Amino acid sequence: MNVLLIYAHPEPRSLNGALRDFAVSHLQAAGHQVNVSDLYAMHWKAVLDTADAPGYTADERFNPAVESQRTFAAGIQPPDIEAEQAKLLWADAVVFQFPLWWFSMPAILKGWIERVYAHGFAYGVGEHSESHWGDRYGQGTLAGKRAMLVVTMGGWESHYSGRGVNGGLDDLLFPIQHGVLFYPGFTVLAPFPIYKTHKVDAKRFEQICSSYAARLDGLFTAQPLPFRTQNDGDYEIPALTLRPDLAPGRHDLGIHLSVEAVPPK
Ligand code: FAD
Repeated sequence: MNVLLIYAHPEPRSLNGALRDFAVSHLQAAGHQVNVSDLYAMHWKAVLDTADAPGYTADERFNPAVESQRTFAAGIQPPDIEAEQAKLLWADAVVFQFPLWWFSMPAILKGWIERVYAHGFAYGVGEHSESHWGDRYGQGTLAGKRAMLVVTMGGWESHYSGRGVNGGLDDLLFPIQHGVLFYPGFTVLAPFPIYKTHKVDAKRFEQICSSYAARLDGLFTAQPLPFRTQNDGDYEIPALTLRPDLAPGRHDLGIHLSVEAVPPK
């Protein structure tokens, strides 16, 4: 199978760098084709701006979504964006590996998403009407592909537990897992979090690699997170609110998982 690793860390000799190298060799040894987008090494342009809109003239108001739609449809996007879209289309699974920086992904990775996820590619796909708000959340260009986050962080596991001071990890990652991954169609696997990174030594690194290997081995077989699809009846039209009989009375982010028994956090 084809596996794409989107990797965001500025230092190849970091823990993240070592985990990237481990993942590449492990996946290749298992017979997969592997491609890596090493965003810092590529000097990825992280800001979406007028330079991404060939043909745009400054006498008009710059509308990023409109320009994205125009350049995507006309096949005149910047080559770095097209190349990353082609990698996504090639991939059967995509692993996003990054350190948690300020409770989210590093800015360079956010910029990769903003630029590569073009209008017509990752959003604005399918019919848009009162009764069908696009092919998204379970449908879309990336449907059928699997995605997994691999996130390192300084905080302890307990800090990210349901009652932890940082907020629960599932909630913190929700905008990425549900918004960035599930929205354009990915089947999303549970994340692989690595806590307390400053305490990693050779012994713990081995343990992490062993757990990471198991997760990589399950990339195409593990049960995904059961996010509710938008267009299969769970959400009321046109408000797109969850039907009142599903997860009744709850308003937490967990209601978007189709496991009625999941308790509120
Ligand atoms: P490194 O610093 O490279 O390494 C960590 C440890 O692993 C070191 O002890 C190192 O010796 C060891 N190591 C590295 N490679 C190996 C190897 N091959 N074998 C054995 N040991 C090895 N944390 C949070 O929890 N929440 C946040 O919101 C958050 N925000 C941050 C914001 C910023 C701007 C920054 C800089 C950090 C933030 N952190 C946060 C901490 C951050 O998530 C961690 O520093 C990061 O995940 C560690 O990953 P690294 O690859 O940089 O590790």
